[in-house]
Amino acid sequence: MGQTLEAGTEVSSGDNSCGNCGRFLGQRLSFTFKSRPVPGSPDLAAESIKCIYCALKHGPMVKRSFVAAALVGTLLTLLNQGDILISGHWNNALYWKIPLTYCVPFLVATYGALTSSRR
Ligand SMILES: [Zn+2]
Repeated sequence: MGQTLEAGTEVSSGDNSCGNCGRFLGQRLSFTFKSRPVPGSPDLAAESIKCIYCALKHGPMVKRSFVAAALVGTLLTLLNQGDILISGHWNNALYWKIPLTYCVPFLVATYGALTSSRR
């Protein structure tokens, strides 16, 4: 069943394959994402099953994580570094502290989304 692309990678049309790339999932991590129903359509929201690689690139999840990072990262930066930023006495540590401050909520939001959508 399915078509072999390269060693260990099988494309299958069954339920146990990634709905995006077709990678056979077996016992691997897989995630279920719901897509929004089309307005006016009687269909319920469709579900798609994705492998970890496709789940990490799932557009709506990445977008939500970026929004969380922008909001929470800005708030945390202002709380932690606001006095330094306003005083204008920037030091070199800010060049790694501020990007890391934005990375934390992005990673937490992504981890939460993946945890809640895990099959
Ligand atoms: Zn995939």
